[in-house]
Amino acid sequence: MTQSFLNYIDGQWVAAEDRVTTPDVNPANTAEIVGDFPSAGRADAARAVEASAKVFPLWARTPMPQRGDILHRAANLFEARADEVAEAMTREEGKTLAESKGEVMRGVSILRYYAGETMQPTGEVYPSASANTFLYVERVPVGVVALITPWNFPVAIPAWKIAPALAYGNTVVFKPAELTPLTAWHLVDVLEKAGLPAGVLNLVNGRGSQAGHELVENALVKGISFTGSNEVGAHIAAQATARGAKMQLEMGGKNPVVILADSDLEKAVELTLAGAMLSTGQKCTATSRAIVQREVLEEFRERLVARAKALKVGDGMQPDTYMGPLVSAEAERTVLDYIKIGQAEGARLLAGGEKLRGDEYDCGYFVAPTVFDQVTPDMRIAQEEIFGPMVSVIEAQDFDEAVQLANHTRFGLSASIFTRDLNLALRFMREIEAGIVHVNSQTAGAEPQVPFGGFKSSSSGSREQGKAAREFFTQIKTVYLDPL
Ligand code: NAP
Ligand code: MG
Repeated sequence: MTQSFLNYIDGQWVAAEDRVTTPDVNPANTAEIVGDFPSAGRADAARAVEASAKVFPLWARTPMPQRGDILHRAANLFEARADEVAEAMTREEGKTLAESKGEVMRGVSILRYYAGETMQPTGEVYPSASANTFLYVERVPVGVVALITPWNFPVAIPAWKIAPALAYGNTVVFKPAELTPLTAWHLVDVLEKAGLPAGVLNLVNGRGSQAGHELVENALVKGISFTGSNEVGAHIAAQATARGAKMQLEMGGKNPVVILADSDLEKAVELTLAGAMLSTGQKCTATSRAIVQREVLEEFRERLVARAKALKVGDGMQPDTYMGPLVSAEAERTVLDYIKIGQAEGARLLAGGEKLRGDEYDCGYFVAPTVFDQVTPDMRIAQEEIFGPMVSVIEAQDFDEAVQLANHTRFGLSASIFTRDLNLALRFMREIEAGIVHVNSQTAGAEPQVPFGGFKSSSSGSREQGKAAREFFTQIKTVYLDPL
């Protein structure tokens, strides 16, 4: 029997009003239904918003360290069930168990970090032009915030939105991606058990075009924090701007790694592969372009192709799997389409390029690790986000051309360079148009205590994580206090 799960609205676990549910399918084995989840409509989302608005004054007045205590307890509960949550994540999203476990522990760190932030100053005192004026600036919560998240980091991204939202005194309606509801359920369940008052955090599983749409349009929602595709982000931006809601959008990437002739080639190959293929290439910070200096192009290409062909692809639950399936049939179709597009554009397919067949693969969305070379900068496969296990090798004459190629995209999330030359590394750090820059490490990876987000079309300009989260989840009140 498939286990049925519920939404969490106003402190109650409830079905969707019209009783519609959606199965949560294992992408490594589509015969396995991980759970059955409500598919909330607009009315359900609206009820969650009302509950959240009703309790906001109480939560905003709750002493900040008390809010932190709840986050602390939630972190401990989440850590205690880390193995269970990791398994849920692998079964519903497909990434390997090792990656899932890493992400769950990152979720624990994020909850702990924001528990700690509740002991930090909430403003500053300024000198005033008047002798007696006490002039201070205070950070106060925004109100009800809607948190809309993608499936690719189903713990980390919800955690890095929910934890600061709650720490700074906002109340939350959380709409996870429909593809990963079980991990979301675990996160909300531990926060409930940690002692959140009813209505402070609401979980609404439902389609973006229904439940998500309501959250974006509802006038009681004062802030929208969204991570996902540029397409949906643009739509949310237009609606939020029209009604004057605060918004934060983190979107796609087309992240480059630059490999200079003097780099440690073995390390460069290994970390290009990790950046491109871990999580089956489904990270916003995944490496999708390898820009390689001509002198080492041939050697790099040979080693990369040999390693890509040798990768173990399979069910993420198996300990020797390096790369799991794509998340859904739609994702698989998109990747296979881009492989055809690359070939039609004249790029050369060096590895992969096909759906995997055989007993181990027939019930899942498995595509072989794919490498193209002879990719020119304006090809679609060099410009568009693919979100799959595919990397394009692009040739560069020298450092200057490599940076110019790296910047030749509308995105600017993360970027990396491999070199031993400190001067060129420094120039790269200055000249690259990216919100996150790595030297001699892969394009993916983010620690919770520092800001995360992109330049150009990758972001609306705000940042998440670390102290940067305070910018979005608080508003500023400037107070002039004059004694009589
Ligand atoms: P998506 O299709 O844009 O969906 C993201 C979320 O928005 C989902 O919860 C989705 O609901 C919801 N949604 C869809 N339409 C909506 C609407 N009209 N109104 C309100 N909400 C709506 O993205 P995805 O396919 O889940 O995730 C992949 C994308 O996320 C990639 O582009 C990736 O680069 C990006 N990403 C960015 C970052 C970053 O920090 N920059 C991190 C991770 C991922 P459903 O459940 O119905 O889909
Ligand atoms: Mg989607």
